[in-house]
Amino acid sequence: MTEDLLRELELLREFGFTHLDIHGTPALAGRPAEAGAPDLLDEFRQIVIACEKCRLSKSRTQVVYGVGNPNADLMFVGEAPGRDEDIQGEPFVGRAGQLLTDIIKAMHLTRDDVYIANVVKCRPPENRNPEQDELDACRPHIRRQVEIIQPRVIVTLGRFALQSLTEKAFAISDVRGKWLDYNGIRLMPTYHPAYLLRTPSAKKEVWEDMKKVMAELER
Ligand code: SF4
Repeated sequence: MTEDLLRELELLREFGFTHLDIHGTPALAGRPAEAGAPDLLDEFRQIVIACEKCRLSKSRTQVVYGVGNPNADLMFVGEAPGRDEDIQGEPFVGRAGQLLTDIIKAMHLTRDDVYIANVVKCRPPENRNPEQDELDACRPHIRRQVEIIQPRVIVTLGRFALQSLTEKAFAISDVRGKWLDYNGIRLMPTYHPAYLLRTPSAKKEVWEDMKKVMAELER
């Protein structure tokens, strides 16, 4: 049994699974490719990778723009790149990223089916929290990505992603697991995978949230 498979099975156990349907369930892939979104996302990437709108441009290795299916039905929005992401130029590739990948797999999806991006595109030094002016400066980028991709569902990961995308001071403890609306798109707030690494008992709550997301995508 491979290490990946073992890790996935362990995560499923933590989610509360007691048995597995080995026949699986149909994958919830993105929409068939539509003309426009891939080109628009690529064009927008050229603008964002040259961005110097806030102080984070001085300390970054590179802009971490986003990755995945330009026609995705499901979009994950996180906070900001960490050290691994800053080096590799891809969001969610460190330990928290591996956990997000495992969650996506447990949903019978792959990272290529969904789109993953952060509300802040450059790494805050020493992984500190993003500051308000940095969140404000970067907000138009994530909003434009959502506008281009037009997902059916957005999952925000943690407080900063939720508050910055919506520009509302939601407390994650009040709204986690409850459907919100973002410009006509269903938005499910849940915990950040980094929090799950510190608090494994919260994985069950996140899985409850992901079950709601899967049900919504199957409708
Ligand atoms: S964090 Fe966002 S606003 Fe700041 S420099 Fe990077 S891309 Fe520009």
